[in-house]
Amino acid sequence: MQITLTRPDDWHLHLRDGEALQAVLPHSVRQFARAIIMPNLRPPVVTVAAAADYRQRILDALPDGARFEPLMTLYLTDSTPADEIRRAVDSGFVKAVKLYPAGATTHSDAGVSDLSQCDPALAEMERAGMPLLVHGEVTDPAIDLFDRESVFIETVLQALLKRRPGLRVVFEHITTKEAAEFVASAGDTLAATITAHHLLYNRNAIFAGGVRPHYYCLPILKREKHRAALVRAATSGSPKFFLGTDSAPHARRAKEAACGCAGCFTALSALELYAEAFDLAGSLEKLEAFASFNGADFYRLPRNKGSVILEKEAWTLPESLPYALDDELAPLRAGELLTWKLRETSDQ
Ligand SMILES: [Zn+2]
Repeated sequence: MQITLTRPDDWHLHLRDGEALQAVLPHSVRQFARAIIMPNLRPPVVTVAAAADYRQRILDALPDGARFEPLMTLYLTDSTPADEIRRAVDSGFVKAVKLYPAGATTHSDAGVSDLSQCDPALAEMERAGMPLLVHGEVTDPAIDLFDRESVFIETVLQALLKRRPGLRVVFEHITTKEAAEFVASAGDTLAATITAHHLLYNRNAIFAGGVRPHYYCLPILKREKHRAALVRAATSGSPKFFLGTDSAPHARRAKEAACGCAGCFTALSALELYAEAFDLAGSLEKLEAFASFNGADFYRLPRNKGSVILEKEAWTLPESLPYALDDELAPLRAGELLTWKLRETSDQ
């Protein structure tokens, strides 16, 4: 069996920089025509000038002859001025602004400590129609790690949407039933990305037979009822849900450590993982809109022209891939079987 999809995009991707960028970029280029590039470098991408430089480094790292469009984002801080938002809109290549609550995840210490400080920037984004991409977790250490997304909805997101009703928001990598239901019932200014790993795994995967650091990501995998709710949302046909891998490479040494980094590297086989999730749900016919249409439509960008062919065929993922800093990268589900394989990509 095989399926053909309009060429998809990845609406949430970490490419890193330097040697790491060189190592991971070809995997995403093989799978996707465009990607929303996360700005959490060190230092973070807080200005349009920095985004322009980063974009050029990505273009310079492209394999020969490859066609891939990096869609850049700015990292919102307590002091992002409205002027920077106007420059971002005028640039044409900055497509969104990312909100990391300070301390929520990898390289987020420069993130927002108080959203009310960001009001000049948010007002300008609302006016210009520039999407705000939200890492939707509170960072209060008193809140249980598994509850941080649902508490974020109650204490931050609802108030933000009320205060800025025209602001277009993507609730990134949702992981809970509460988030899926909230997005589905909200107005059309709110959409969400869903990762392949949150569609395929519940939190047992982190502890199956021992601690499995490659299944540790943020927001963390949740209970089975949440995974099931995400699958229902992704396969519902609602245009509010779309593909965002949140593929986030970390060197094996940094993952398999006493204090291992959060993030799953899925770029190598992203479409295969999504196809498996939709296939398991009996909803393969819903995959194309989720992967190739809904995100482009929300971002008000043209849908891609090319196509990809996926074939149902078992194959074994490599144990590791080359990575930067003399280390290697373990893809999610390294050395295990996948049930789908990306066969062919065409740009036309
Ligand atoms: Zn991310």
